[in-house]
Amino acid sequence: MVSKEKLTTLLGEALSPSRVTDKDFDLITYSRDLSPAAPKMPTHVVMPDSKEEVQAILKIANEHNVPVYIRGGGTSHWDAYLAQNPGIMMDMGRMNKIVDINERDLAVTVQPNCTWAKLDQELRKHGLTYLCSEAGGPAMTVGGSVMKAGSGPHSTAKFGFHGNQDVLTLQMVLPTGDVVETGSAAWPSAGKFERQCLGPDLGGMFIGAEGILGVCTELTLRIRPATDHVERLLAVMKSLDDVVSFGHFINQHVGDEYLQGIYLWVDPASPDVFLLMMDIFGYEKEIVEHRKNRILEKIRELGGEIGDPGPANDYFDRILTGLTDLFAAGVWHFFGAGTLRIDDIHFIYDIWRKDLIEKRGYKKAGFGGQILPRRWLAFMVTNYKEPQEWKELVEMADEIDAKVLSGPVVPYGIGGRDGLRRFVAERDTGYYRLLKTLKKTLDPKNILQRGIFIPEEELR
Ligand SMILES: Cc1cc2nc3c(=O)[nH]c(=O)nc-3n(C[C@H](O)[C@H](O)[C@H](O)COP(=O)(O)OP(=O)(O)OC[C@H]3O[C@@H](n4cnc5c(N)ncnc54)[C@H](O)[C@@H]3O)c2cc1C
Repeated sequence: MVSKEKLTTLLGEALSPSRVTDKDFDLITYSRDLSPAAPKMPTHVVMPDSKEEVQAILKIANEHNVPVYIRGGGTSHWDAYLAQNPGIMMDMGRMNKIVDINERDLAVTVQPNCTWAKLDQELRKHGLTYLCSEAGGPAMTVGGSVMKAGSGPHSTAKFGFHGNQDVLTLQMVLPTGDVVETGSAAWPSAGKFERQCLGPDLGGMFIGAEGILGVCTELTLRIRPATDHVERLLAVMKSLDDVVSFGHFINQHVGDEYLQGIYLWVDPASPDVFLLMMDIFGYEKEIVEHRKNRILEKIRELGGEIGDPGPANDYFDRILTGLTDLFAAGVWHFFGAGTLRIDDIHFIYDIWRKDLIEKRGYKKAGFGGQILPRRWLAFMVTNYKEPQEWKELVEMADEIDAKVLSGPVVPYGIGGRDGLRRFVAERDTGYYRLLKTLKKTLDPKNILQRGIFIPEEELR
């Protein structure tokens, strides 16, 4: 086994000694994420500047059988990237540049740790913006979001999860150090403008894999013209059936043209009040007015009440600039979450209401949803402050997850080490077996994200 000092020297030679550390006071800051998961100290932290340096790190790691963990902006809160085994933490923070803004093809190429905030700021100078984003604020990176296939209230009604419509091409360094370009970038003389070509969608294989199959070193995304023609609406619906009818109206009658974002919220204190916040967009004032009126008509027809749009304005505006005070009530814990057909939202709501609120008397978790093209993402969310509270919460959430995932719900993401692996593994599907085969083939020494998602013993 390579000694700590020797590994420091090898990594220092491959990068620069100033971008490699094995000092405890540096390592400790990388031992935690936003959750109270037990701290896990890496043995080294490295800060690569380029794809070549990422390749060099992975080659050294393979040669000496040392695991490598990837940290983007570090804002995930489910033990997604902490060093499960003694190993190297690769901080992607220096790879944060905007490489190219292609105004004619409406495509932008960025390094993975470019944040959404930085990208939006730069694109708006050209009258452009990105397709969709999450609710996470300024530290969240493009690479981190795409690698975990995030989704949020901003524009997902129209464009879905990250990876559904926004990703064109990826540059990935595979666990052994080889580089692969996906989509049209795989054909170097063609350029970076198309996701699905040359047969299988290899980009799709990496999106949502949370770094277990490769390190993303560059991405090209679709972008769109920015517009100031935006209207926000707030409505209160009387029943979940009305919410379902509204969901179908958006998806079927007027299509996802109308709304770029919609957020459903039900507070545990008033489980019969269904709040909808909506973000309507268009490129011409008259079109936006027309869309708004059609939506208002539909809400009235369903017996809903229109409220003051102030909270919706505030909410959607702050999503772009960074929501403040989000953790004032404690750290978020999402559970009972997944995607499901428009009609099936009752399934998660009923578990939330009957199992959580009525049977268990747990009145801290709200029920939320975001409409995506032709489906919902629904979830329960609560907050905690103390590690003990978190432990109890995780146990309860596990039971709720088991119930939710036994129904017509597909899990949302793989969820790091503490995530949904158990449920995926239990089913022993061809999907999980293929994922393991891919992992073994691409990463024969199990270097990348060792112990995250697929346990070591299952890869032997
Ligand atoms: C206040 C707040 C609000 C949030 N809201 C949302 C939300 O609305 N929707 C949502 O989906 N999430 C949300 N999140 C969770 C989190 O912020 C997002 O998932 C975010 O996209 C993670 O990006 P990141 O850059 O911080 O990635 P990290 O947390 O650093 O990493 C995320 C995952 O991707 C992997 N990874 C990172 N970079 C790379 C790379 N270059 N190559 C390969 N793998 C990589 C990591 O190993 C890890 O598994 C929120 C978090 C906070 C704190």
